[in-house]
Amino acid sequence: MKKTLSALLLVAVMIMGASAAQAEPLKVVASFTILGDLAKQVGGDDVTVTTLVGPNGDAHVFQPTPSDAKALKDADMIIINGLGFEGWMGRLIKASGTKAPVVTASAGITKTLTLKDTEDKNHDHDHHHHGSIDPHAWQSITQGRMYVKTIAGALQKTDPANANNYGERAAKLDTELAALDAWVKTEIATVPADKRRVITTHDAFGYFADAYQVTFLAPTGFSTDDEPSAKEMKHLIQQIQSGKTRALFLESMGNPNIIKQLAAETGAVVGPALYTDALSTESGPAATYQALMRYNVTALVKAMQQNP
Ligand SMILES: [Zn+2]
Repeated sequence: MKKTLSALLLVAVMIMGASAAQAEPLKVVASFTILGDLAKQVGGDDVTVTTLVGPNGDAHVFQPTPSDAKALKDADMIIINGLGFEGWMGRLIKASGTKAPVVTASAGITKTLTLKDTEDKNHDHDHHHHGSIDPHAWQSITQGRMYVKTIAGALQKTDPANANNYGERAAKLDTELAALDAWVKTEIATVPADKRRVITTHDAFGYFADAYQVTFLAPTGFSTDDEPSAKEMKHLIQQIQSGKTRALFLESMGNPNIIKQLAAETGAVVGPALYTDALSTESGPAATYQALMRYNVTALVKAMQQNP
């Protein structure tokens, strides 16, 4: 009797163990916060997402630690941007010994932009190591929707048991992003075309500029941790004055001093920090991809209205 009971208990424990294993969410590791957020939105309760470069982090100059390698080793699926954005990722994946599939979120984008020749010529700093391909494709919502499609397809392939859930969430998100894209276009259209000029420190808005017809004057030769030379500052002041651009923006990452100095010397208006390559923390104004877009567009439109 006692033996039968303990055998029954053992069977019960085994069954519970098996069902718990089945219900365990898929472990997804994303290289940076924007991909992590899209994976969470498509994955819902079926995934747990770990992000290597955290909120307000700079993925261009990231220094991985052993805990990042461990996260990759334990992962069921890995998501990277590609287009040369995370130069450190290939070595880290190799070193981690992970067997997880690596998904390139940008694989389905419909347009690839290169940094302008003139910008490349001035690129003597070490901020962007990706040569002539512009990796910031998520700044166009049209391309962001392609990211969602690619991530959803990869989740369905890796975790077919929950394929319907991924498909439903991705479809809902796509509808939301289509509406957001229309909203961005409506907002930008409230600014007269000849006022749509902005200065930022970092070449992150190429896809945004292309999608929404805004001109970004990004001073190049400025590293996130370097002071520009007097010659570079003079060149930029001339850019501001000749372009009649008063909308200057900081970024949530990097050195704010360059833009502050430019504002002091030219009288240009400094807008709030834009979110380019990273989301904010949970309590910040850009905690999701959609919030990032709404926040940036609202700030850009307000500042561009002040251009002469
Ligand atoms: Zn960048």
